[in-house]
Amino acid sequence: MSLFKVIQENCPHCNAIQEIKYYQTVNVTLEPNLKEEVLSGTLNSKKCTNCRKEITIFSGLLYHDMENRLMFEVKVSDEQDERKAETLNEFKKNGYIYREVHSYPELVEKIHIFDNKLNDQVVESVSNKLKAMLDESLKQVKETDIEFNVFFKKIEKGLFKKKLVFFCFSHPSQIMEMKYEIKNLSANERKDLYTIDSLRG
Ligand SMILES: [Zn+2]
Repeated sequence: MSLFKVIQENCPHCNAIQEIKYYQTVNVTLEPNLKEEVLSGTLNSKKCTNCRKEITIFSGLLYHDMENRLMFEVKVSDEQDERKAETLNEFKKNGYIYREVHSYPELVEKIHIFDNKLNDQVVESVSNKLKAMLDESLKQVKETDIEFNVFFKKIEKGLFKKKLVFFCFSHPSQIMEMKYEIKNLSANERKDLYTIDSLRG
């Protein structure tokens, strides 16, 4: 079941007060259209009734895919909830894969990884490698604390070469694509890449 709240909120642009509906839980098996909204980033945003500009609500979100037994949670606070932890454990016992993320882009990345039937731990190890390399190269050019963001995009299935494709940026205005050939993975990683069930408790 999907859960949402309706609140009265002022538009951050023009201050007009209005009703805003935002989701706390989306069940994308029962409501597949909500998955589209999560992927396009429109789930918890609406156009202001007055100025027509975008209002986005930043809140925690639980993404629930019953069909593939996936549960991803966007956490915006460190609050611990014992009853919720118990419920989560029940899901994990039933073979659910649970992941905690801290932003919407990370949530979208998780969805893409599992939509491609890939093991997110292997993908993450590649993404960490690329990030370390990019951060290092940036440091060599100039003294800086700027770090790269690296997100999985897709898997490219060429005739001979399969590649993991990532998009990387240190600033959202300069997005570039990086490809990592699957043959460069270690033997174990190659074996694990297409094994998702090993991630299930
Ligand atoms: Zn407005």
